[in-house]
Amino acid sequence: MEGDKPLTATLMCTVVAVDHTHLCYRVCSLCEKTLPETDKNNNTSSSSSSLSSACKYCNAFNPVSSNPKRLFRVLMSIASDTKVFVVVMFDRAARVLFGCSADEFFDFAKLHPFSAETAAKALEGEMLRVTLSKPKNGNAQHQRVVSVVPLRSGFRPAIENLRELYG
Ligand SMILES: [Zn+2]
Repeated sequence: MEGDKPLTATLMCTVVAVDHTHLCYRVCSLCEKTLPETDKNNNTSSSSSSLSSACKYCNAFNPVSSNPKRLFRVLMSIASDTKVFVVVMFDRAARVLFGCSADEFFDFAKLHPFSAETAAKALEGEMLRVTLSKPKNGNAQHQRVVSVVPLRSGFRPAIENLRELYG
């Protein structure tokens, strides 16, 4: 009956490391389908409205408004009381730790080149209570963070630390 419910487990853990090199991915702002990555080295001078970034699903219906947006997808190693393992954290959970949307973070990081590294470092050692869901199909590589609660009373989201640090 409820057999399709994903298996979840809640546990206390410590953040060991955060992969700051790929914090987010691009989706169509209308249908939220993943868009192909453009060249990572392209700089801000390239127009974001270039046709290559348009969503091929929405573009047929509504060419002008299918702008891309970013969502968090963060790989993170965590240590439970028994093991260290890698989990993947998508937008809703990552916003709790980063304190802003992926677009806001990316815009901030464009002005402050080491933001991603700094944010990742700042999260290391944080105690979290996470709810993980086990992938049912067995194809997904990592358990997924369904929800996350920082446990330290003085916890501040990454973007707040960065804003203070970089003024
Ligand atoms: Zn679309």
